[in-house]
Amino acid sequence: METPGSQSSLHRANLERVVRAVRLAGSLTQAEIARTTGLSAATVSNIVRELKDGGTVEVTPTSAGGRRARSVSLSGDAGIVIGVDFGHEHLRVAIGNLAHQVLAEESEPLDVDASAAQGFDRAEELVSRLIGETGVDRAKIAGVGLGVPGPIDVESGTLGSTSILPGWSGTRPAEEMRGRLGVPVHVDNDANLGALGELVWGSGRGVRDLAYIKVASGVGAGLVISGKIYRGPGGTAGEIGHITLDEAGPVCRCGNRGCLETFTAARYVLPLLQASHGTGLTMGRVVRLARDGDPGCRRVVADVGRHIGSGVANLCNLLNPSRVVLGGDLAEAGELVLGPIRESVGRYAIPSAARQLSVLPGALGGRAEVLGALALALSEMGDSALLDGSLQASLPAFT
Ligand SMILES: [Zn+2]
Repeated sequence: METPGSQSSLHRANLERVVRAVRLAGSLTQAEIARTTGLSAATVSNIVRELKDGGTVEVTPTSAGGRRARSVSLSGDAGIVIGVDFGHEHLRVAIGNLAHQVLAEESEPLDVDASAAQGFDRAEELVSRLIGETGVDRAKIAGVGLGVPGPIDVESGTLGSTSILPGWSGTRPAEEMRGRLGVPVHVDNDANLGALGELVWGSGRGVRDLAYIKVASGVGAGLVISGKIYRGPGGTAGEIGHITLDEAGPVCRCGNRGCLETFTAARYVLPLLQASHGTGLTMGRVVRLARDGDPGCRRVVADVGRHIGSGVANLCNLLNPSRVVLGGDLAEAGELVLGPIRESVGRYAIPSAARQLSVLPGALGGRAEVLGALALALSEMGDSALLDGSLQASLPAFT
């Protein structure tokens, strides 16, 4: 064993710092690596050369600020990560490499009434098929990120109550998938993964404090604080949908009255258009009609935006994020919804909390969660196996 503090253990720690920085960012110039790790330019240069000779990283010429630079990323064939996203009516799987390239991605419909076991079996089949089609080596799978539409208890990994996949409450999704795939599996809820996806691959790039707001059958937020997802001990942080807007408002599924969700979720909003537009509307259709100039749909989308903005204003006063990213179908409404969100934030947040805030639509659409699952797998994997060239050997024993 190496003595802590010895020359060789310091060198090893520096190697791991550089690999970790590149693994999380996808690619960095040597100057960026120095800034991120706090190592000197000369040390970074030596370490990058050593990692390149060992085949762990690839170096390609690029330019930064008009100057020639060298972009460093992990070798594409150093390892594989897999993202799995279970949604209300879909199962989506993506396979990526450690250089943040997506090698394959596919989505299938998922029957919400099917059992959790059937859902996990389907995911295993789809993962195996994509592994076969891409021809990647199973021994190089570093980990799997798994997204589920409900809160995950951080200690036990148990999925809490979810109205989206009701038969799944009480299951342990990571354990189930680990049993099927035989590799480490990390799980999180869909809002947190959407936040991670946008942070690493989309509208949140370059930002360390971000809230990702997703309006679907419910309203949730994924919170990134100082570059890390904030979950809370019970995994329920970010339940922005249950902020009280009107104590005398409609009764919410949580048992309170006038929650943000009762002013923004489809089942409360669509009935407002029933008399004028008939039945059979969906939020996606309302957004399309609003974009085509339909005045009633524009009004409804704007009102939803104003109410979300009230919630976002509270969030700004508490957490002072620098960016809010709107995901889900509603983001397709663009300025029709973002404008009213900004207006409410301007009205209700204290000015210093909102001054540096930008409110943007998600860049990844329906892919945000599965790409976030890839990012989760990338962030949770260790680096020692990568440096020793024996990814599979150092994985935790499969039980
Ligand atoms: Zn509620």
